Amino acid sequence: MNSAAWGTSSMKEALPDSTAEHSTVSINGHGNDAAAAAAPAQQDSKQWIKPRAYDYTAMDGPDQNSPWDGSAAVYEWDGEGGDVGPEYPDLEVELFGKAEDRKEGRGVDFTAIAEIEVVQEGPVKIDRIDSFRDAGLHPVMLRNVELAGFEAPTPIQKYTLPSIHLGYDTIGIAQTGSGKTAAYLIPILSKLMGKAKKLAAPRPNPATYQEGVDRPYRAEPLVVIVAPTRELATQIFNEARKFCYRTMLRPCVCYGGGPIGEQVRNLGKGCDILVATPGRLLDFMKRPQVLSMSRVRYMVIDEADEMLQVDWEEEMGYIMSGANQDEGNVRYLLFSATFPKPLRDLAKLHLAANHVRFRVGRAGSTHGNIKQEVLYVDANLKRDALTTALKSIDPCRTIVFVNSKRTADDLDDYLFNMDMPCTSMHSDRTQAEREAAMRGFRSGEAPILITTAVTARGIDVRHVRHVINYDLPSMDHGGIEEYIHRIGRTGRIGHRGLATSFFTDGDEAIGSVLTRTLLETNQEIPDFLKHHVPEEGQDLKFEADSDFDPNEGQGAQDGDAWGSGGNAGWGNEAGNDADAGADAGWM
Ligand code: AMP
Repeated sequence: MNSAAWGTSSMKEALPDSTAEHSTVSINGHGNDAAAAAAPAQQDSKQWIKPRAYDYTAMDGPDQNSPWDGSAAVYEWDGEGGDVGPEYPDLEVELFGKAEDRKEGRGVDFTAIAEIEVVQEGPVKIDRIDSFRDAGLHPVMLRNVELAGFEAPTPIQKYTLPSIHLGYDTIGIAQTGSGKTAAYLIPILSKLMGKAKKLAAPRPNPATYQEGVDRPYRAEPLVVIVAPTRELATQIFNEARKFCYRTMLRPCVCYGGGPIGEQVRNLGKGCDILVATPGRLLDFMKRPQVLSMSRVRYMVIDEADEMLQVDWEEEMGYIMSGANQDEGNVRYLLFSATFPKPLRDLAKLHLAANHVRFRVGRAGSTHGNIKQEVLYVDANLKRDALTTALKSIDPCRTIVFVNSKRTADDLDDYLFNMDMPCTSMHSDRTQAEREAAMRGFRSGEAPILITTAVTARGIDVRHVRHVINYDLPSMDHGGIEEYIHRIGRTGRIGHRGLATSFFTDGDEAIGSVLTRTLLETNQEIPDFLKHHVPEEGQDLKFEADSDFDPNEGQGAQDGDAWGSGGNAGWGNEAGNDADAGADAGWM
């Protein structure tokens, strides 16, 4: 990395509230010459902040006494005097932000995604809830949801909250940015809140614990959440820190590349919610003095499709078997943007036969909040097209996706030399470098992030207004599903976003499915893709649509999406929830 640029002023004021206005100034031509294809840069547009040179010495590795993301403060409460701990205003501000800023999470047109249809499949029908107040949440969770600024549940949350509350194994096939982290964290943590004292493993007293003096305890988490990347794991951990506020539940995060000694020491203070990447989790599972899976009640696999794509099939099987516990005790929850065959197989093997599935819109589809523009670009003129794209709209947080580490390095240099405030990230970077790049991007100091796709999986940064596919994904590496993941970095939770993709002669293979994806969300089809538009009357066939096989055993019958079972109202808990028993409430 030759440059990771740091700007000086905050992006905040420079960020437009929505990209609605961008559509009038954004790039929408598609000639042969990319530079000519772009609309002229807005003359009076706000300027990008100046880049700041990269400080190599600041981050020579994760073990350099620099704080790592997993060392962030968590609420710790020993349960003396009740399950609910006192308020702690400083931590409250750290977790939820200042009271006056807390409405940030809601987008300008959040209602647009509130209308998205959710299809449910499985032997029982789950009645959706429309308000957090109807979700039977523990009062502390209800308060935490309020502190987080969540006014209403998102479509996926409307279903997973009751389904998880009732004790069903649950699959959520949800669009990126749909609120899927909270869709599982809220109901799981809420259910555990009143029971933490009974279920949780012994641990040192957080008030008196002295590292290196008191003996560490073995981590025996009640919830294990597996995520494919360090960045996503950290994000989930940060959401968990919020929702565990004022409870006895202690969240921890472990990931490869992070300081292992520190992670072990942190686990030794007690761990109820463990967020981990698969490699590090497997490592700890093999060290019984560090981690035991025997108390696990909930196992969540997030971005599950991504993990199978990188060939972790065997490892996932091992993790899901929990290594050393009775499977009947564990509720399994799978969250994924797409639901390909290997994932369906994994679900069949590990999830209860009466599991329920919720699909938000079409599996893998994108929502209409994102304006997608595909530009024909000569492969040799991509850099020009990039600068034009970056300058054609007001400065805003922008992610530039590339297909190789080399391109990421090269573009970082190139944009830095063009005086653009960029940073970059890929898998060859050390953890400290990746965290620093993310911090620069999040804070707005380096509002242009150049990244390879896998590294950026699941990243949730507020106000990403523009995603640029400098390279479109190839059909061999993720294809249209990868495209959907990438552009889902913008337009999150009701915010409007713009996705610009450079289409070269080498991208012909993705042309057909890309065209159908554009049609599905009523985007304009550029001339050079028009030959892929299906003929009138022909269906927009998507391979991923066939993700539910009625012959699999728990399937839909007579065209009824939820099969023959009765309605699962609030009173009747799923029969197989050994732990929850007849209790559907939070006590
Ligand atoms: P996710 O899809 O889990 O990455 O969530 C995207 C963002 O939406 C995160 O910043 C969440 O904190 C936020 N979020 C999740 N649920 C809600 C909600 N019901 N209302 C407002 N914001 C939400």
